[in-house]
Amino acid sequence: MLQQEIPLRGFDTYEAPEYEKLQECIHCGLCLPYCPTYRILGMENDSPRGRLYLMRAVADGKIPMTKNFVRHMYLCLDCRACETACPSGVKFGELMETTRGQIERVLPRPWYVRLFRRLAFGTILSNPKWLALVADFTLLYQKSGLQKFIRRLGILDYLPDSLNVMEQMLPESLPPKALRYELKEVTPARGETQRRVGFLSGCVMQLWFTPTNLATVNVLARNGCEVVTPAAQRCCGALHAHSGEREMAKALARHNIDVFTAADVEAIIVNAAGCGAFLKEYAHLLKHDREYRDKAEAFSQKVKDISEFLTAIPLQKPQGEIRARVAYDDPCHLLHGQKIGQQPRDLLRMIPGIELVNVKEADWCCGSAGIYNIIQPAVSLELLERKIKHLQAVNPDIIASGNPGCLLQIGRGVKQSGMSAEVVHPIDLLERSYRLAE
Ligand code: SF4
Ligand code: SF4
Repeated sequence: MLQQEIPLRGFDTYEAPEYEKLQECIHCGLCLPYCPTYRILGMENDSPRGRLYLMRAVADGKIPMTKNFVRHMYLCLDCRACETACPSGVKFGELMETTRGQIERVLPRPWYVRLFRRLAFGTILSNPKWLALVADFTLLYQKSGLQKFIRRLGILDYLPDSLNVMEQMLPESLPPKALRYELKEVTPARGETQRRVGFLSGCVMQLWFTPTNLATVNVLARNGCEVVTPAAQRCCGALHAHSGEREMAKALARHNIDVFTAADVEAIIVNAAGCGAFLKEYAHLLKHDREYRDKAEAFSQKVKDISEFLTAIPLQKPQGEIRARVAYDDPCHLLHGQKIGQQPRDLLRMIPGIELVNVKEADWCCGSAGIYNIIQPAVSLELLERKIKHLQAVNPDIIASGNPGCLLQIGRGVKQSGMSAEVVHPIDLLERSYRLAE
C-alpha cells in the first residue's frame, strides 16, 4: 500500500530497468498464452507485453508509478514463463526485479509496511538464527497440539488471508530439530574422492525439508563427492530481490560469495530451484560492484542444480525398486529460470519401478512463486486448484518437484483436495532407491 499524500514518481537513474532491454519487446504477443496471470485475469496489463509496455511508459516519463502500476507489477508471479516463450529474448525476470527495486526504493510506503518488510526481509530472512527461531516456533505449534486445537475451533477462518495461507502450507509433520545437526560442514565422499563440491543448504530447505538436504548430500557422497556445507552461509537473497529489496539481496550475495570462495569447491550444488536461479544471477546483481563483479561471475559459473550436476557426471545406477506412478511438476525457476526440464525427469526414469506420467500444464506455476501465495492469495489459489485438477487427472502415487515453495504449495493442495499422493523432491526418490538396494 502506498501513501496517498506523497506524489508518485517515475524511475530514477539508479538501477532502473535497462531501456535497451525494454525495447527488445516487439509486442508480438506470443508470450500471452503462456502467462498464467493473463490467462486467469484476462487483462493486457497483467500480461508480459502489457507489463513491459507499462515499464516503458514509466521509463519514457509518460506515466508515473501509480498505484495501478504497482498492482500490475506485483500481480506478476515472476515465473518467467514469458521468457521461455519470447522469440525476441526479452529478459523479463531481470526487468521485473529492477522495476520492483525502483518501486521499493523510490515510492514511499506506510510505516507499518516498512516495519513489516524490515522484519521479514532484513531480520528474519537475513539471519539464520531468527529463521531457526521461527522454525522452532512452528515445530512447537505443531507438536504441542496447538495446531490441531486452532484448526478444530475454526480460528483460521478469522485470520487474515496471508496468515491463513502460511498456516495451511505447513507440512503435516515438520522434521525434528535434531535432524538439522546431522548435516555436517564436511561430508566425505564414499569411496574415492573424485570431486569437492559446495552445498547451499538454504533456509526453508534446511529447516522444513531437512531430510531432503540430507538425501542430497548422501547422493553426492555416494557418487564420489566430498561435500562442503559452510555453516556461515546465509539465505541466497532471492526472496529479497523478487520483492524489490535489492540492497539486502546484494549484501547476502557478497556474504555467500566470500563463504563459498573460501570453501574452494569446483561446483556449488543447489536443490532449491528458486535459490539456484538466483545464485546464477549474482553476476548480474553485482555487475556494478567493482570489488565483487568478477568474484560474482566466477561464483555464478559454478552454480549447478542437483539434477543438472548429477546428470553430467558418471552416476552410480540406483538399484532399489520404487513401484509408483510419479508425476513431475516443473518449478518455474528451474524450467524457465535455468532451462532445466529434462534432467530431473532423466533421474526419475533411472529409478527401477517408476512410471513417469505426463501432467498437463506441468510447466505452469503452481501459485507459490516465492511469497506470492501470501501476498496474492486469490490468484495463487486459482492456480493451485488448476494444478491439482491436472494432477488428479493422472492419479499419481507420488508428485515430485525440486523447489521448497512448490512442495509446500502442492502439498497444501493435495491435502485439501483429499488426494493421497506423496509430495517429494526428486532427490528423495533417488536416495530412497539407493537405500532400498543396500
Ligand atoms: S513472469 Fe509469469 S506471470 Fe509474470 S508476466 Fe511473465 S509469464 Fe506472466
Ligand atoms: S513474446 Fe517477447 S517480444 Fe513478444 S510480446 Fe511477449 S515479451 Fe514482447
